[in-house]
Amino acid sequence: MQDPRTKYPQPPFGEQPQPVPGLAREMSPKPDHGEKSYRGSRRLEGRKALITGADSGIGRAVAIAYAREGADVVLSYLPEEEADAREVVDLIEKAGQRAIAMPGSLTEESACTRLVQEAHKALGGLDILALVAGHQQACESIEDLTTAQFDETFKTNVYSMFWLCKAAVPLLPPGSTIINTSSIQAYQPSPTLLDYAPTKAAIVAFTKALAKQVAEKGIRVNAVAPGPFWTPLQPSGGQPQEKIPNFGSQLPLGRPGQPVETAPVYVLLASDDSSFITGEIYGVTGGNPLP
Ligand code: NAD
Ligand code: MG
Repeated sequence: MQDPRTKYPQPPFGEQPQPVPGLAREMSPKPDHGEKSYRGSRRLEGRKALITGADSGIGRAVAIAYAREGADVVLSYLPEEEADAREVVDLIEKAGQRAIAMPGSLTEESACTRLVQEAHKALGGLDILALVAGHQQACESIEDLTTAQFDETFKTNVYSMFWLCKAAVPLLPPGSTIINTSSIQAYQPSPTLLDYAPTKAAIVAFTKALAKQVAEKGIRVNAVAPGPFWTPLQPSGGQPQEKIPNFGSQLPLGRPGQPVETAPVYVLLASDDSSFITGEIYGVTGGNPLP
């Protein structure tokens, strides 16, 4: 048993600007994705998962956990994140599972359709879609928020989810699960995230609607809504850099979450253990609960 306040690093942290999309390997302290700590118990034996944003942060924690639970994994990430992705491929293979890397941006429909089809072919089927990729860039004023940024955030966070689900649903057998990634920002938007917060609200509504639509196919759809997590998204422009030193300090638990702390929820929602759970949004927020 461990005190949740002191289990992981607490603020203050050092400022550490990185160009977007950022690398986990450049962060200090290093995020904990479960590399040393996550222990599986074969809850996803024989399952076939496509995970986006699987190189770093929450997606890496999900990839490690799914592999240690017995799933084979296709990893999607951006080409400039190859160094992070290689570490995840190694960890999955060390867990005795298949890891297939499929780098590429997901802001075009054709790329999303191709990814699903190639993942289905490479894995010999597909039954878990864990959509974790996301784009977040803080901007102080609506006057400086460009249409190009607004578009990129919506294309990455909302359109790719639509395109990936659209391509996957016809391929998913009954018992399959889709897990989307929303945010506390869907409910408590920050003034600097005028484009990002609404994408996370859209993910909530899409998740609930799709869950009702595909229940008749035996497919479940849920979303995880994290609070502040220690991942490359934040120091690479997700927050104004001056907010990094005290990131997470305002939470009841007094620190940001570490990516591994989301893994048990993504595992639960992927596994048959959650067979009666669909259309739900799960908060993992450090004490700042969803409404
Ligand atoms: P992260 O930077 O480690 O992961 C985000 C990933 O998104 C990147 O690794 C990248 O591979 C992928 N990505 C970004 N743009 C892409 C594109 N155009 N095409 C394909 N992939 C792209 O950060 P994270 O915090 O682990 O983010 C994972 C998810 O969690 C995101 O959806 C994010 O919005 C959400 N989230 C994060 C926090 C937080 O505080 N870190 C809080 C709530 C929600
Ligand atoms: Mg990354």
